[in-house]
Amino acid sequence: MEARSPLETEIRRRIALAGPMPVAEYMALCLFDPKHGYYNTHDPFGARGDFITAPEVSQMFGELVGLWASAVWKQMGAPENVRLIELGPGRGTMMKDVLRTAKIVPEFQAAIVAHLVEISPLLQTQQEKALEDAGVPLFWHAALADVPKGPAIILANEFFDALPVNQAIRTERGWHERRIQIDSSDQLAFSIAPEPLPFFQTLLPADLQAPRVGAIFEWRADTAAIELGRRVVNGRGAALVIDYGHTETGLGETLQAVGQHAYADPLTLPGNLDLTAHVDFQSLSRAVEAMGTNGFGPIEQSVFLRRLGIEQRAASLKAKTGRSNEIDQALARLIGQSRMAMGELFKVTAFAHPSIGIPPGFES
Ligand code: SAH
Repeated sequence: MEARSPLETEIRRRIALAGPMPVAEYMALCLFDPKHGYYNTHDPFGARGDFITAPEVSQMFGELVGLWASAVWKQMGAPENVRLIELGPGRGTMMKDVLRTAKIVPEFQAAIVAHLVEISPLLQTQQEKALEDAGVPLFWHAALADVPKGPAIILANEFFDALPVNQAIRTERGWHERRIQIDSSDQLAFSIAPEPLPFFQTLLPADLQAPRVGAIFEWRADTAAIELGRRVVNGRGAALVIDYGHTETGLGETLQAVGQHAYADPLTLPGNLDLTAHVDFQSLSRAVEAMGTNGFGPIEQSVFLRRLGIEQRAASLKAKTGRSNEIDQALARLIGQSRMAMGELFKVTAFAHPSIGIPPGFES
């Protein structure tokens, strides 16, 4: 038998005490438990880590996001002081590339105070190292709500997919919450709450009103999206959200565990695997726009990066460095349409204060 992870012992203790555990609570413990959570105990990124994100694929990604931010700053009326906020900066690679690119517009660079919103002390330490020579003031916070108010540009790559999801499963009697229980063979296993969730059906979009028995529906708390919307409006700024997921609210289970670049069972080795679920862009946009922002997209990452000029950037990098193969491979990964590439799977959406107009890359 495989050894239990220390977090599994804690999860079993909680289930024994309080009963079956909602999926979102399980996911939150697996990722963020201060002692045993994945992000507090692992360096997940890169070739030797568990997965690779767009900023880790190539510097081109963060550079183009940097160009986006400087254009948005001009659309904001070039405020003398702007909070450049990143949610979930991982290793700090994207912020590093963004800040290097900001130097192209010295007035923008001079206006920036960078705020990094990071829940993991381990990753914060890595970000501090990566940003040692950033050349702008840097502050860290555990939540977006802690960042001081004022003009704001907010960036989030692969942040929302890490926020815990809830799951419900359809039976003949209605929608029941899916939970985690200890089964008869003493293993962690999914289970179904005995009673249906009251009024759940009425919360679903019209086209999901007659699902088959066994269908799964996932949803996230709107808390982070609402705060994002508030900050965009309060800061008369804009936000850029990049993630994988679906354009419209739909049925289906997308909760997945990844370790060492391979998929795994989300209930094995809690705390040692990265857990994520697709972002429901329709529901995210509804919450952010409800706070008074204008929403743009989602569009495919390939479309967004092409519009910002990734092909030209790749050509000039190739000419400068001579590393043609490497750059072509990175380009294919970022904008390619295959299942292994990010171009189609990843979507980009922006939210802006109505005074800003259309953020770069979203002109139709
Ligand atoms: N943006 C980075 C990392 C993505 S992984 C990249 O593209 O490489 C998700 C990141 O979000 C990690 O840094 C994780 O610690 C952080 N994170 C996840 N949930 C968070 C939360 N609720 N509050 C703050 N940071 C969070």
